[in-house]
Amino acid sequence: MTMQADKGASFVDIWWDRVRAGEKVVQKCGQCGTLQLHPRRRCNNCASADLSFEPVSGEATLYSFTEILRNAPSDFMAQLPYALAIVRLAEGPQMLTRIVGVDADSLQCDMPMRWTLAEIGERMVPCFAPVAGASV
Ligand SMILES: [Zn+2]
Repeated sequence: MTMQADKGASFVDIWWDRVRAGEKVVQKCGQCGTLQLHPRRRCNNCASADLSFEPVSGEATLYSFTEILRNAPSDFMAQLPYALAIVRLAEGPQMLTRIVGVDADSLQCDMPMRWTLAEIGERMVPCFAPVAGASV
Protein backbone atom coordinates (compact mmCIF):
# COMPACT_ATOMS: atom_id res chain seq x y z
CA MET A 1 0.00 0.00 0.00
CA THR A 2 1.52 3.30 -1.06
CA MET A 3 0.91 6.03 1.44
CA GLN A 4 -1.27 8.96 0.54
CA ALA A 5 -0.01 11.36 3.19
CA ASP A 6 -1.26 14.42 1.33
CA LYS A 7 -4.81 13.08 0.96
CA GLY A 8 -6.79 12.30 4.08
CA ALA A 9 -5.21 10.52 7.02
CA SER A 10 -1.49 11.00 7.53
CA PHE A 11 0.90 8.08 7.16
CA VAL A 12 1.46 8.28 10.93
CA ASP A 13 -2.27 7.79 11.52
CA ILE A 14 -2.32 4.95 8.99
CA TRP A 15 0.62 3.26 10.76
CA TRP A 16 -1.11 3.57 14.14
CA ASP A 17 -4.37 2.18 12.75
CA ARG A 18 -2.60 -0.83 11.25
CA VAL A 19 -0.53 -1.47 14.39
CA ARG A 20 -3.59 -1.27 16.62
CA ALA A 21 -5.29 -3.77 14.30
CA GLY A 22 -2.50 -6.20 15.17
CA GLU A 23 -0.15 -5.72 12.22
CA LYS A 24 3.60 -5.38 12.70
CA VAL A 25 4.68 -2.95 9.97
CA VAL A 26 7.40 -0.43 9.21
CA GLN A 27 7.89 1.90 6.27
CA LYS A 28 9.82 0.65 3.23
CA CYS A 29 11.29 2.89 0.57
CA GLY A 30 10.38 1.85 -2.98
CA GLN A 31 13.53 3.48 -4.36
CA CYS A 32 16.35 2.24 -2.11
CA GLY A 33 14.68 -0.44 0.04
CA THR A 34 15.44 1.24 3.37
CA LEU A 35 13.15 0.21 6.25
CA GLN A 36 12.36 2.93 8.76
CA LEU A 37 10.48 3.78 11.92
CA HIS A 38 8.92 6.09 12.98
CA PRO A 39 6.79 6.80 9.91
CA ARG A 40 8.02 9.82 7.96
CA ARG A 41 6.97 11.74 4.87
CA ARG A 42 10.27 10.92 3.11
CA CYS A 43 12.84 8.14 3.14
CA ASN A 44 15.50 8.79 5.74
CA ASN A 45 18.18 7.51 3.33
CA CYS A 46 17.32 8.91 -0.14
CA ALA A 47 14.47 11.39 0.53
CA SER A 48 12.08 9.54 -1.80
CA ALA A 49 8.37 9.86 -1.06
CA ASP A 50 7.80 6.38 -2.55
CA LEU A 51 7.07 4.72 0.79
CA SER A 52 4.87 1.78 1.66
CA PHE A 53 4.29 -0.41 4.69
CA GLU A 54 6.23 -3.65 5.00
CA PRO A 55 5.39 -6.45 7.45
CA VAL A 56 8.13 -7.35 9.91
CA SER A 57 8.58 -10.39 12.12
CA GLY A 58 8.18 -8.60 15.45
CA GLU A 59 11.43 -10.17 16.65
CA ALA A 60 13.90 -7.72 18.18
CA THR A 61 16.74 -7.31 20.63
CA LEU A 62 16.91 -4.90 23.53
CA TYR A 63 19.35 -2.16 22.54
CA SER A 64 19.03 0.15 25.56
CA PHE A 65 16.62 0.79 28.41
CA THR A 66 15.92 2.74 31.56
CA GLU A 67 13.43 2.32 34.37
CA ILE A 68 11.20 5.33 34.93
CA LEU A 69 10.65 5.56 38.68
CA ARG A 70 9.26 9.12 39.07
CA ASN A 71 8.60 12.38 37.27
CA ALA A 72 6.90 10.71 34.31
CA PRO A 73 4.71 12.77 31.98
CA SER A 74 1.40 13.37 33.77
CA ASP A 75 -0.51 10.87 31.61
CA PHE A 76 1.93 8.13 32.67
CA MET A 77 2.22 8.86 36.41
CA ALA A 78 -0.28 6.13 37.34
CA GLN A 79 1.84 3.55 35.50
CA LEU A 80 5.08 4.05 37.44
CA PRO A 81 7.47 2.31 37.52
CA TYR A 82 7.92 1.24 33.89
CA ALA A 83 10.74 0.36 31.52
CA LEU A 84 11.32 2.65 28.55
CA ALA A 85 13.55 1.14 25.89
CA ILE A 86 14.99 1.19 22.41
CA VAL A 87 14.70 -2.14 20.63
CA ARG A 88 16.31 -3.08 17.34
CA LEU A 89 13.98 -5.02 15.07
CA ALA A 90 15.43 -8.10 13.37
CA GLU A 91 14.87 -6.26 10.06
CA GLY A 92 16.97 -3.28 11.23
CA PRO A 93 14.87 -0.30 12.32
CA GLN A 94 14.96 0.76 15.95
CA MET A 95 11.89 1.62 17.96
CA LEU A 96 11.33 3.60 21.16
CA THR A 97 8.93 1.50 23.20
CA ARG A 98 7.84 0.14 26.53
CA ILE A 99 8.95 -3.23 27.88
CA VAL A 100 6.11 -5.20 29.46
CA GLY A 101 5.77 -8.49 31.27
CA VAL A 102 8.99 -8.31 33.25
CA ASP A 103 10.58 -6.30 36.07
CA ALA A 104 13.18 -3.84 34.82
CA ASP A 105 15.70 -5.42 37.24
CA SER A 106 15.83 -8.52 35.07
CA LEU A 107 16.41 -6.69 31.76
CA GLN A 108 19.74 -6.98 29.96
CA CYS A 109 20.88 -5.38 26.73
CA ASP A 110 20.77 -7.77 23.77
CA MET A 111 17.88 -9.76 25.28
CA PRO A 112 15.59 -11.24 22.62
CA MET A 113 12.29 -9.35 22.55
CA ARG A 114 9.00 -9.81 20.77
CA TRP A 115 6.48 -7.15 19.60
CA THR A 116 3.14 -7.22 21.42
CA LEU A 117 0.22 -4.88 21.93
CA ALA A 118 -0.39 -3.62 25.45
CA GLU A 119 -2.90 -1.24 26.96
CA ILE A 120 -1.05 1.84 28.18
CA GLY A 121 -3.46 4.26 29.79
CA GLU A 122 -6.51 4.01 27.57
CA ARG A 123 -4.69 3.15 24.34
CA MET A 124 -3.34 -0.02 22.77
CA VAL A 125 0.29 0.58 21.84
CA PRO A 126 3.11 -1.54 20.47
CA CYS A 127 5.33 -2.76 23.29
CA PHE A 128 7.94 -5.47 23.60
CA ALA A 129 8.28 -8.40 26.00
CA PRO A 130 11.17 -10.76 26.57
CA VAL A 131 11.04 -14.01 24.60
CA ALA A 132 10.28 -16.74 27.14
CA GLY A 133 13.18 -19.08 27.72
CA ALA A 134 15.62 -17.08 25.62
CA SER A 135 18.96 -15.94 26.99
CA VAL A 136 21.41 -13.20 26.04
ZN1 LIG B 1 15.08 5.51 0.05
